[in-house]
Amino acid sequence: MNVQTLVVGQGLAGSLLARRLSDSGTVAVVDPGQSNASLVAAGLMTPLTGRRFRLTPEYPQLFARAREAYTAHNVFHPIIVYRMFADAEQRAEGLRRCVEADCAPFVKDVTDNAGRLSQDLTDTHGGVLMHGAWVDLPRFLADTKTWLGERLIKDQLSTNDVTDTPTGIRWKNITAQRVVWCDGWRAMLPGGLFSNLTWQPAKGESLDVTSDAPAKDFVLNREGWALPCGEGRWRTGTNWDWEEQGELVTDIQRKKLLARFQGYFNQPISTTVTAQAAGTRPCTRDNRPYLGQHALRTRHYILNGLGPRGTAWAPTAVDYLEALLEHGVPVPAEFDYRRAMVP
Ligand SMILES: Cc1cc2nc3c(=O)[nH]c(=O)nc-3n(C[C@H](O)[C@H](O)[C@H](O)COP(=O)(O)OP(=O)(O)OC[C@H]3O[C@@H](n4cnc5c(N)ncnc54)[C@H](O)[C@@H]3O)c2cc1C
Repeated sequence: MNVQTLVVGQGLAGSLLARRLSDSGTVAVVDPGQSNASLVAAGLMTPLTGRRFRLTPEYPQLFARAREAYTAHNVFHPIIVYRMFADAEQRAEGLRRCVEADCAPFVKDVTDNAGRLSQDLTDTHGGVLMHGAWVDLPRFLADTKTWLGERLIKDQLSTNDVTDTPTGIRWKNITAQRVVWCDGWRAMLPGGLFSNLTWQPAKGESLDVTSDAPAKDFVLNREGWALPCGEGRWRTGTNWDWEEQGELVTDIQRKKLLARFQGYFNQPISTTVTAQAAGTRPCTRDNRPYLGQHALRTRHYILNGLGPRGTAWAPTAVDYLEALLEHGVPVPAEFDYRRAMVP
């Protein structure tokens, strides 16, 4: 098979890039087909995050670009996110942020105390209703898999098996003009072309549950999140494990996530776990993606480091990488992976 671009990894990064590059040339994708961060993620875009309600500086632009890109694939769903304040201090901080010029457009309403929005929640300190979005990542990845058909190769690519020649890259029966590494947290493993970057992978787990909890048409958000999926089904998560990587689920997180979900409601609810999954976020120290062309093996590129807000970052990151691949436009310095090279 002769292709212009071989993409390594069919997570969010690889899928979005492959769909984009198909307009300008042939693309094949290689992926072993196991679970990944994109399938475990909630796919939420939540404007104000963290204990201090920080807004990523470029968030309005990232959100607008993401809405456009995912709408084109029919997987963008605007949704209200109810961020419940954990305590009085967080409430004060949240109220301060809500009126700031860049945050205000994302704020729908602020509640004062428990019961104003809904009688059955433990929102003792009130909360803020934000305009966010849910991107149906499992559907996007499944649609992309179908779209790729035979151009999706179920395998794992190792740098040792790839030969760079003056006319292209050879791997098994494939010849490609270039390879783009979208391999998520596994990029940090020894032997990888981009393993010598500062990586801060963070493992997280999520549960799919069915429950008789009161139905909601907004996401519940405090410490973690609970996304209503209709007909008594929810997806809920998550945690941050900076020590472990991989996709192995744990009993301890199942219990913690279940307790947190039940803790959102002020009445006893019964809940059954229907699925549990784990993934590892490819985080970077400055919370920005890693993009660019390998300095020595110039047919190799990277699109990675999407971190905890991959859904928001991915479309903009793909724009920059496409401009580099197709038109030789250098990626902006704050996205250039070389900023994070370990000497
Ligand atoms: C529990 C959890 C919840 C999250 N929630 C959200 C959220 O609500 N909103 C949000 O924006 N982000 C969220 N994220 C982060 C988001 O999931 C990531 O930013 C994003 O999915 C990363 O996509 P990726 O394509 O870079 O990596 P991945 O999805 O991990 O994909 C990488 C792919 O590369 C493949 N691969 C690796 N090595 C090779 C190789 N050598 N050869 C071939 N294939 C290879 C892997 O099998 C995998 O399929 C969450 C993450 C987790 C873990």
